[in-house]
Parts: sequence; C-alpha cells; structure tokens
Amino acid sequence: MKVNQAEFIISAVGPAQYPTDALPEIALAGRSNVGKSSLINRMISRRNLARTSSKPGKTQQLNYYKINSDLFFVDLPGYGYAQVSKSEREKWGKFIEQYLLKREYLKLVIHIIDLRHPPSKDDQSMHEWLKHNNVPVCVVTTKADKISRGQWQKHMKIIREAFGMSKDEKIILFSSETGQGKDELWSLIEQQIGY
Ligand code: GDP
Repeated sequence: MKVNQAEFIISAVGPAQYPTDALPEIALAGRSNVGKSSLINRMISRRNLARTSSKPGKTQQLNYYKINSDLFFVDLPGYGYAQVSKSEREKWGKFIEQYLLKREYLKLVIHIIDLRHPPSKDDQSMHEWLKHNNVPVCVVTTKADKISRGQWQKHMKIIREAFGMSKDEKIILFSSETGQGKDELWSLIEQQIGY
C-alpha cells in the first residue's frame, strides 16, 4: 500500500469515541518500550507521527491513526509496565479486552515482540488470550537490526516455542531502523483487509 496520507485521529478512552468511518482496523499490541510507535512510524514513513516513548501508564487509551481512506492503525496501550498499579492494570485489561472482543472492524492484531529476548509472562498471556478468543493475530519481532543475521532463526525459534506456534504460523522479522519486514507486513495487512 502506498501511504499518501497518515493522520492522528483520536485518543479514545471509550467506545463512544471510536471513529464511525467503518474502515478496517489493525491493532498493535506489545509491552511498553518494545518499539510499537517506531513500527507505526516506519510503516507510514513518518518520523514522528506515533509518539515514541510516550509515558507508560499515561496511555490508557486507544490511539487511532487513519491511513489514506483505507484503514486505521489502533495503537493499544503498552502492557507489562511494573510501575502501573494493579487497579490500573485491571482497568487496562477490561478496556482493551472489550475492544478486542467486540470491535467489528478489527481485522488483525499485530503482536510485537522484541527479537532479542524470550517473550515475557505478559507477552505469553496476551498471546494465549488472543488465540483462545480467536482474535486474528500475527507475531512481528522487531529490533532485528540489533541481532546478527545468523542468530535470527534461533531467536525466532525461542519465540515460536514460547507461544506454542506451529511451523507454518508466520513470524515477521522487522526493524524500524532499517525498514526490514515493512513490505511483508503491508502485504499481510492488505490481505487481511481485502485491499
Ligand atoms: P513503544 O513504547 O513500544 O512505542 O517503543 P518506541 O517505539 O518508543 O521504542 C522504544 C525504543 O526502542 C526507542 O529508543 C526506539 O528508538 C528503539 N527502537 C524501536 N524499534 C527499534 C528497531 O527496530 N531497531 C532499533 N535499533 N531500535 C528500535
């Protein structure tokens, strides 16, 4: 997809604020600091539309970005931030859960994992929960540029095993630094939204 226009639409704190455009939505999930904003920026070739390093814990909201007149990227709050209180975490859970289970326009969740590290407990429960609820999900491992090419397969295997993924479930290698994986991820998104 050629991105001609990308704009921030709203930080929604509840369903009443979700856009009414009836466009397909692609959600992005990942723990805080995994590289979610950087991935969005790379996908739309903007330096700083998705705010990188926004303060974790202050982001109990869904950030909507409209891409052309084709789709929305929906940036979910980063999870697994230790300093967020238990009640905040629970609030996060319910809010996002409702969106992921009920939003009819949601076509795909891009689950972003840091290629360098084995998935955390939070990563694993997020992934299991999505699978269990039949939410379409694709694992994207980012920061690939921080690992030598020869090590990629080994790291992907660790992630695959932690998530109980079969060999034919695809993992996309990504780097916001080099743009690796961008075309592959766009192809998948296009396929998912019937573009
Ligand atoms: P977010 O909290 O998930 O939105 O994470 P950010 O996008 O703010 O990224 C967190 C940090 O990781 C920043 O310092 C980014 O520059 C860095 N980062 C993100 N993606 C990549 C990547 O693919 N390669 C490298 N080398 N650094 C990255």
